[in-house]
Amino acid sequence: MDKLKEACPWCHREVQVESGRQRRYLCPFCKQEFTYTPSPPQAEGNPSAQRSGVGTPPPADFVETPFVKDLADRTLLYLQDGLHVHLSGPAGSGKTTIALHVAHQLVCCPRNTVT
Ligand SMILES: [Zn+2]
Repeated sequence: MDKLKEACPWCHREVQVESGRQRRYLCPFCKQEFTYTPSPPQAEGNPSAQRSGVGTPPPADFVETPFVKDLADRTLLYLQDGLHVHLSGPAGSGKTTIALHVAHQLVCCPRNTVT
């Protein structure tokens, strides 16, 4: 367990605490008790390092089967009419890939727009 320096909430002097778990500490300076709560893991590190998928083109090996093309064309039509589209299906079935494919057509390839 790593040791961290945390400011005592009473006297604001640095007290050594254990990272990764919440427990009560007695400040050696002011003899007051306080509870140290570790910050959640997502608060640590660089949040921009996490990929959001926004701005990511569809994979190069994307295969547009007749089913996928029909679905993508209908999705595009709904979006162009200002409607919202909800793609649903089991995990890994390609919802995000189709969404990225349609978004790519919408933004990058206006020639593909259905009229
Ligand atoms: Zn203190």
